[in-house]
Amino acid sequence: MLLQVKDLVAKLREEEKIILKGVNLEIGRGEVHAIMGPNGSGKSTLANVIMGNPKYEVVSGDILFEGESILDLRTDERAQKGIMMTFQNPYEIEGVKLDQLLLIAYRKLHGEDKTFFQLDKEMKGLLNEVGLPTEFLERFVNLGFSGGERKKGEILQARFLKPKLLILDEIDSGLDVDALRIVAEQINKLRAEGTSLLIITHYARILNYIDVDKVHVYVDGKVALTGDKSLAYEVEKTGYAIVNGTADANS
Ligand code: ADP
Ligand code: MG
Ligand code: MG
Repeated sequence: MLLQVKDLVAKLREEEKIILKGVNLEIGRGEVHAIMGPNGSGKSTLANVIMGNPKYEVVSGDILFEGESILDLRTDERAQKGIMMTFQNPYEIEGVKLDQLLLIAYRKLHGEDKTFFQLDKEMKGLLNEVGLPTEFLERFVNLGFSGGERKKGEILQARFLKPKLLILDEIDSGLDVDALRIVAEQINKLRAEGTSLLIITHYARILNYIDVDKVHVYVDGKVALTGDKSLAYEVEKTGYAIVNGTADANS
């Protein structure tokens, strides 16, 4: 098993209110899982807690990666182990150019296994694949990028860095149909290259373009239902009330 989330309870460090209320989730090597859940149910919190964002605190439960607990590891140590997340709202990083970010992160993860020339060629190839001009490499990360360009930039970073586990936090939100297709194609390539994926989404729409092994319906801080792709379409039709009792619990 690549990732095991066990009875995970977590909250914001500064606050009392529990956001994750006992999340259980297992992702095997090479598997693609989708998590669907309503706004405010704690999906981004789950992604952040797996990544080790210090704003959040684990109250109980565990997160294992490749069989070992990662709770005591810092975010950069988790990244070094091969975990990566993309942001629902990608940050602007003024002063850091996209190619600097990519090259430094790549060397940190994979060392000197490729020459600068090879990496430069790969970056340009990926920009071309997602339909961004090569000049984007010289721009500060996300600064002045449109919503779609940011999401393309996020998925491009993942392709380049080749994580073992990639968590996508609403990569599909706000994308027009052409951009969605491009991002989905990149997800399929990541999967083909062996990356495991956790796709957090509101909509079944993106699942039209990719194969998923499992779909989890996530409501009020925990995984309430697990099924195959058909479950995603059912949720889209019925709403999250499909989960017994949660229509009340959520109002
Ligand atoms: P989702 O991604 O499913 O929309 P979130 O994880 O963003 O849900 O949020 C879950 C709950 O926790 C919400 O009530 C949200 O307001 C609160 N929350 C999460 N992160 C923060 C934060 N950094 N500051 C304040 N509230 C937060
Ligand atoms: Mg949200
Ligand atoms: Mg969110």
